[in-house]
Amino acid sequence: MVDVVDSKTRSRIMASIRSRNTRPELALRKALHRRGFRYRLHAKDVQGRPDLLLRKFNAVVFVHGCFWHRHEGCRHATVPATRTEFWASKFERNVARDDEVRSRLLDAGWRVATVWECALRKAEHVDVATQMLASWLAAGGREIVIEEGSVVERIANSGLELPDPET
Ligand SMILES: [Zn+2]
Repeated sequence: MVDVVDSKTRSRIMASIRSRNTRPELALRKALHRRGFRYRLHAKDVQGRPDLLLRKFNAVVFVHGCFWHRHEGCRHATVPATRTEFWASKFERNVARDDEVRSRLLDAGWRVATVWECALRKAEHVDVATQMLASWLAAGGREIVIEEGSVVERIANSGLELPDPET
């Protein structure tokens, strides 16, 4: 089969799949740090090189881009109109790899948090998402998924003012 993407384009695509230090990731890191949480970044010696590792909580955090990691039902997980087969197989591999990494980490006793980037697009959502993550870390659950929908729901149900970011 002929490779229709030149190597430069391909490496750019490959690099962006596992992009690190994205704006949403930085926003989450900053908010967590402000709350006193300390973490290691992109630990090379841990399966899947998680974005954050909190040893004290035995937890790892992945910040996933909705497009590349195929956030199910998310409006940001669009499907490109051209070269659909190429994208379909690429997406399939990404999802399979994420599943594999997550189950291996859980098997190894890690607690795994997945934060979808859509939950971190608005500053006020970042605070709520961080609060959800912080509660989970303290409570000791095995796994949590934080996405735009759950953040919006949390805000609606709280009936409260948005949390003061300084507290
Ligand atoms: Zn999403």
